[in-house]
Amino acid sequence: MKHRQRLRPQVTNAECIRCGTCCEKGGPGFHENDRDLIDNGIIPSRCLFTIRKGEFAYDNVKGSLKPLDSDIIKIKGKGNTWTCIFFDEAGKQCSIYDNRPRECRALKCWDTRELERIYAKRRLTREDLVADVEGLWDLIADHQERCDYDKIRDAIRELELNDNDTTRRQLAEIIKFDIEIRNLVVTRGGLDEEMLDFLFGRPLTKTLPNYGIEVQRQGEKIILVPKVKRTLKSELGMRNSENWAGLSEED
Ligand code: SF4
Repeated sequence: MKHRQRLRPQVTNAECIRCGTCCEKGGPGFHENDRDLIDNGIIPSRCLFTIRKGEFAYDNVKGSLKPLDSDIIKIKGKGNTWTCIFFDEAGKQCSIYDNRPRECRALKCWDTRELERIYAKRRLTREDLVADVEGLWDLIADHQERCDYDKIRDAIRELELNDNDTTRRQLAEIIKFDIEIRNLVVTRGGLDEEMLDFLFGRPLTKTLPNYGIEVQRQGEKIILVPKVKRTLKSELGMRNSENWAGLSEED
């Protein structure tokens, strides 16, 4: 099956040989029946990050890059790698094996049918987990609306076609809000900084290079520099990225 081939490395074994490859390629996405692992603190939310609704993500089953129609909550990687933070590299084993999430239980690299069956179903979202936390969900919903990836892609597309001050300013304001809300919940709300990537997704300063823009900061100034990304550019229907002028915006 075409999709299965994308998920499956070249393996001839029919049982796990604990090579660790699956855990090094990234932690699992969470589904509704994983919720207890988070609610009971077995997997603390500071160990998670969110790929936000609307954000581009690679679909391992379909083998394509596309905007998400729902959040995907995942286990963080170690440092700047995708290796799951719960993977014990020395022992080549999962440090939470008895409590590993559903996708980890389903993945057998020699037969990916079970993972394919559950992959996109009943994903756990931030709303499932924090909608009842007074004040917090309002902040997340506000951030999701103001820093919406559809809006961001529209702004980038507009700049591609018609570089103009108004759109540059709008995009800079979105980035500025993303930076400020993170600072606010830590400095005034006392939230653990490690929670930010779960609550608000990864910072736009880190994800926008995937959309063709490097974000640089010089003091209070936000500088947007075009960065050609041919693959994503074609997904977005972008043209003439090479002709972008350097964009800069004052806070
Ligand atoms: S939770 Fe365990 S099995 Fe799942 S990716 Fe992480 S280390 Fe591997």
